Amino acid sequence: MRIGVLAVQGAFAEHINVLKKLGVEAFEIRNTGDLSAPFDGLILPGGESTVMKKLLHDLGLFEPLKEKIGSGLPVLGTCAGMILLAKNIDSGEDPCFGTMDITVKRNAYGRQLGSFVCTARFADKDITMRFIRAPYVTEVGSGVEILAEHDNKIVAVRQNEQLAIAFHPELTDDHTVYKLFFRMIENRAAK
Ligand code: GLN
Repeated sequence: MRIGVLAVQGAFAEHINVLKKLGVEAFEIRNTGDLSAPFDGLILPGGESTVMKKLLHDLGLFEPLKEKIGSGLPVLGTCAGMILLAKNIDSGEDPCFGTMDITVKRNAYGRQLGSFVCTARFADKDITMRFIRAPYVTEVGSGVEILAEHDNKIVAVRQNEQLAIAFHPELTDDHTVYKLFFRMIENRAAK
């Protein structure tokens, strides 16, 4: 299994460290040349979604990655990565990939609660979630499965091969989110 991590800005190194720790081959996606060898999954990390969106366009990565996501490459978007996948942003700003049928609110917890850690149910297990100036999901389309809520807000969703998480799984020792993502990749490969 070979996973590419978008590495133009944000918390990409932390994702790569976890992947390596879990014995998965990981590589950085910095420019179009990095897309030449085949890979099985894509991670869009946390960071600043507006900056990542601009760099995706400037570096010529937007079109090829949108194409891959659209054709079913399994993708995990965390925090800013969730925003990159969302079809709608509640402030009305333009979406980035817009491949996932969700509406997100950016910096949704306000300044005071900008960063916090909590424990909440993810699928059928309690896990530690670390939020950093996170978005949450305000609306989901009919094909979207809700995987986690915290404080009555939707914080993890899945739509077919796309997984979007408002918190930072790369910053805790719980690997539940990654294991789900690996299963999605394996199931796709088996098809
Ligand atoms: N606040 C960031 C944004 O709106 C997301 C924060 C994060 O990824 N930790 O893009």
